[in-house]
Amino acid sequence: MRTRLLIISDTHGSTPFSSAKGFSLPKADVLIHCGDLTTKSELYEYEATFNMLREIDANLKLVIPGNHDGVLDTKYWDDLCEAKRRWASPFTLATWLQRPHDAHTIVQKARHDGIHVLIGQGTYHFILANGAKFTVYASPWTPAYGFWGFQYADVEDSSTDTIGRSSSDCTDNNRLRHSFSDLQPGTDLAMTHGPPYGILDTTHQQDRVGCRMLRECVQRARPRVHCFGHIHEAAGYAVATWDVQDEKKTGNVNDEIVENVSQPGKGLLRQLSLCEQDATHIDLEEGRQTLFINAAVMDTRLRPDQSPWILDMDLPFPDEEHKRKANETGQLLAAVRAGESP
Ligand SMILES: [Zn+2]
Repeated sequence: MRTRLLIISDTHGSTPFSSAKGFSLPKADVLIHCGDLTTKSELYEYEATFNMLREIDANLKLVIPGNHDGVLDTKYWDDLCEAKRRWASPFTLATWLQRPHDAHTIVQKARHDGIHVLIGQGTYHFILANGAKFTVYASPWTPAYGFWGFQYADVEDSSTDTIGRSSSDCTDNNRLRHSFSDLQPGTDLAMTHGPPYGILDTTHQQDRVGCRMLRECVQRARPRVHCFGHIHEAAGYAVATWDVQDEKKTGNVNDEIVENVSQPGKGLLRQLSLCEQDATHIDLEEGRQTLFINAAVMDTRLRPDQSPWILDMDLPFPDEEHKRKANETGQLLAAVRAGESP
């Protein structure tokens, strides 16, 4: 079933192309936002972002937080307030301590309006309004860089304290202390805030800052599509061809070819298709290739002038197993909406 996805990331409280007169985000079956809903985790930024997302015409709206959305990471925010206790006035501290509650209220309102804010890392199963099956892996976690929300200690600095651990933390101290090993084969789309190592992850300083653990897990699970943001200057798309004989091999992504294919800011929308009937489609071999999209809308100077992405893909109809899992996901999200879990 032909399905249209609208993919954005790193809007930081702004609307894509807010300076372009008459521009509005197009209708899609599914909206994907890969995190950094805000810059400072301020309540007005969440309000602005969710109002922008409410305006978008899409049957399914999936959103994850990013490292800037730290108020949604309970452990991180507790640590931050603890650090502020030393110098902040009682009034200032009180407003900081109050903010998670107020942010949660805003998030719950958005959830009631059909915006699924996925804070828990894991796999979610859906049956779309067009009848297609859609399996999504979501994770807001990125490697530590400074002191931000939803981050874990990097593998190269095991002395750093891990903050905001999730239930899926890896216990192997020789590696990252966070794990993405719950990313499973058969995933239609993975949405993470950060890139995997070596793919659309190059900073202006030419450093590759993606996560090696995520790269390993993506390489093993080989989702059809993996989208993210986080590294604003690396917006673009890439196709990786995996070595199916040896999932540990990393040599098959040719970064020179795949990197920076898009030209951020040059067109208002970037459009890609995986549908065979489209003349310009990307011929993606399922289970052997993955399409990556770094959908960061903000450039490095925090202007919302990099293109949102439209992706058309064919999705199959669900089998009984998927229907059962979609029912479980529905119950889980209903419980989250009812406030039974964060
Ligand atoms: Zn960002």
